[in-house]
Amino acid sequence: MSATSTPPVHRGVLEEPRLLAAGPGAGWAEHLDCFGPLPQEYSDPQILSEWEASGLAGRGGGAFPTARKIAAVQRAAARSRRAPVVIGNGSEGEPLSFKDQLLLRHAPHLVLDGLLLTARILGARESYIAAKSGLHPRLLDALAERGETSVSLHATDSHFLAGQATAVISSMEGGPSLPRHASGHLSDAGLAGAPTLLVNVETLAHLALIARYSSSWFRTAGTAADPGSRLLTVHDQGRYQVHEVHGSSDLSLVLEQLQISAASVQAVLIGGYHGQWTIDLDVRLSAANDDRHHPAALAAGAGVIEIMRHDICPLARTSQIIDYLARASARQCGPCLHGLPTLARDVQALAQRFADPKLPEQINRLGALVAGRGSCHHPDASARLAISALQVFDDEVAAHLSGTCHHNTQEQR
Ligand code: SF4
Repeated sequence: MSATSTPPVHRGVLEEPRLLAAGPGAGWAEHLDCFGPLPQEYSDPQILSEWEASGLAGRGGGAFPTARKIAAVQRAAARSRRAPVVIGNGSEGEPLSFKDQLLLRHAPHLVLDGLLLTARILGARESYIAAKSGLHPRLLDALAERGETSVSLHATDSHFLAGQATAVISSMEGGPSLPRHASGHLSDAGLAGAPTLLVNVETLAHLALIARYSSSWFRTAGTAADPGSRLLTVHDQGRYQVHEVHGSSDLSLVLEQLQISAASVQAVLIGGYHGQWTIDLDVRLSAANDDRHHPAALAAGAGVIEIMRHDICPLARTSQIIDYLARASARQCGPCLHGLPTLARDVQALAQRFADPKLPEQINRLGALVAGRGSCHHPDASARLAISALQVFDDEVAAHLSGTCHHNTQEQR
């Protein structure tokens, strides 16, 4: 290291939780004790400017800058002279993600603070929380505790695509909870054609904290490129835990803090079922893959990692996931209707040790074929996971093709 270089800052699990600071099952009194009421002394433009300065990116998986999303709805509302709609999305269709339901159970008031504040600033006509029906009693209690009647709840399905933005809108309008062939942005025309802000519930909770404590406080966690903290669901050996980690956390440090020895880890799935595998533990869990400040950053997606120990066959686990994704598709577009089932069949054949040397090439070709062809990112993201398995587990691929894989492919996870 040169004399002038800065030593790397290692970031992992937060020492003091932010989002869950009020404690388990926090009610209105505990919430106010911990965070106090939303400040009244700041004007709406001041709050908007703090949100923009915070650099907060959406925590639902898309990582889109939240302030830009809000500004787009503001502009569309002014243009169309229609009052917007604000929706907190806690649908959490990703099977490995449990952080939104944890947040809605233990910090519903922080989410409601963010929702109500955003709705007030935007002059929203309606505001909603979209979440699975099992969470509604907790949310109704929270609304009753604060005497709030302006927020409606919408029950979402629990399947993989139900949390996708256009699927949420479709189901709120009485249609199927499946992605739509969207033309245009929800900010221009979302629920019933109104300018619509749809943001993940964790994102709303961060907005509530930034409005209280400022953008510079928010930026004391994370990095310049990936500021703040995020909730991370960590799966290991059939169990999961949710932790609050710094933006761009070092994966190796998170594992160390969770007392998972690097030697016991075969690989890590980063970003959930639409994510990618890595065997390199010196990566950062970031908002996006293209974090130019940290080329070794991988997108944490909706905030999910799955640790794979050495007793698991990585190709069999990948096959399970691709099969799930193929069955989860809405089968409305060609890549989902034809491409994903074929991809799932080829990955399964590889996992089951069919000695067909053409399988990897077929999987790569199918992956390239479906990319960018669907109305949503489901086929692209599913193919990316399959291709990442071929790249990361090339030795295992060779062992499967030669019939020398030693894993029991029947017992996964
Ligand atoms: S690409 Fe697949 S999941 Fe997406 S809208 Fe089309 S059929 Fe549905």
